[in-house]
Amino acid sequence: MTTKLQFWGAAENVTGSLHHIITQNGKHIFLDCGLFQGRRQESIEKNKNFPIPAEAVDAIILSHAHLDHSGNLPGLVKQGFSGKIYATPATADLIKILLSDSAHLMKRDLEYLNKRRVSRGQEPIEPLYSQDDVEQTLELLVPVNYLTPTILFNEITFTFFDAGHILGSAITELKWKDAISDTETVLVFTGDLGRDHLPILKDPTYLHDADYIITESTYGGRLHDSIEKVGDDLAKIIKETVKHRGKIIIPAFSVGRTQEILYEIAQLKGKNLIPDIPIYLDSPMAIEATQIFNRHLECFDDETMAQLKAGKNPLFPPGVFFLKTTDESKELNEIDFPCMIISASGMCEGGRVVHHIANNCGRRENVILFVGYQGQHTLGRKIMDGADEITMFGETHRVNCRIEKILAFSAHADEQELISWLQHFNKKRLKKLFLVHGESEAQNLLIQSLNTSGFNQIHIGKQGEIIKLI
Ligand SMILES: [Zn+2]
Ligand SMILES: [Zn+2]
Repeated sequence: MTTKLQFWGAAENVTGSLHHIITQNGKHIFLDCGLFQGRRQESIEKNKNFPIPAEAVDAIILSHAHLDHSGNLPGLVKQGFSGKIYATPATADLIKILLSDSAHLMKRDLEYLNKRRVSRGQEPIEPLYSQDDVEQTLELLVPVNYLTPTILFNEITFTFFDAGHILGSAITELKWKDAISDTETVLVFTGDLGRDHLPILKDPTYLHDADYIITESTYGGRLHDSIEKVGDDLAKIIKETVKHRGKIIIPAFSVGRTQEILYEIAQLKGKNLIPDIPIYLDSPMAIEATQIFNRHLECFDDETMAQLKAGKNPLFPPGVFFLKTTDESKELNEIDFPCMIISASGMCEGGRVVHHIANNCGRRENVILFVGYQGQHTLGRKIMDGADEITMFGETHRVNCRIEKILAFSAHADEQELISWLQHFNKKRLKKLFLVHGESEAQNLLIQSLNTSGFNQIHIGKQGEIIKLI
């Protein structure tokens, strides 16, 4: 028996990451178990469908906490999976809040629809999973530190390395020996690969030897703005807004982007580059995530550690107030002096940030500052694209405030960064480079650039396809 790899999720698209390893002894290991995110009905059906029955899966190795990689774990558990889920300690902590939030959103999303269905005499739609399934999932977690080889089923060894993408994100290396020839095979799975010089996190680790690499390809054909400019851009927007006595509203994802903004603010404050205005972090989930960051110093880079050692925690800069209750959040409506409000959700699809936008978008002196990707058809995208009017809570609001964006924060390597990371591998040893987690257009562009960089054995993973790893 040879070891095999089956592509399943994030094959020719970017969501629902799941790759299925079948070992020589017939054990089934999933790399990731992500949520497919798309139209409601289609997503529910796709997410219920696994390559093998849930109870036949022996173990899961999780690359990081983002829902497109972890978000279907409770779905698998609901169907009968009871094996171990291996993840770095930070990922194990982060998925606690992310999976609970996911179950909550699924329930809320169906409430209105199900009310209508029931009134029409139709069966209600059951959410993919509930909070109970999340609780069961969390019991299966086994935290594994970076750089700690772990043997599974006496035949396969995996090791996590820093991926530099979000807190706890890992590149996974799997090694096994052929039962007959005794030769060793190495498979590397990038998960989502981050970038050098992102705030807070260590840079992605360079690896050198692999027979097979499964790599993400999200930004094939594209290059990001330089991360070094972010501080200057942020300072300029803050100074300009304070001059006009306005407020700055930043919609930001609770995990990752919020902490990066806090870090940048700490740097600007430390150098006296911005006026001393109050900054409100108005999101209970973001506050919890920031506390989790603060417990995982093993993920921090040298610059962040140096600041901590000097007694300046860049995640808790002076002048930043953490607001937990809705009363505290509502009090922000009364403020008539310049301030900054960082709040979720990142694409303005719900959460407290929508209230702040409704309260502040009508005034010329205010700014809505976007610091992350805004998906199609989201409120955030409409505002970012320059809508004159927006509807929130059944009321129409004119958008008179300024709209700004800083989009250099991407947590994914762009094409050049991905290729320069791959260049560290010994090409003579590499038998195949598999592309996953990318749209077809990005993958085709990436292949062209990889070819000119000396990579030839490239294969785009297709859902259901099984490859022998000899
Ligand atoms: Zn990710
Ligand atoms: Zn992803």
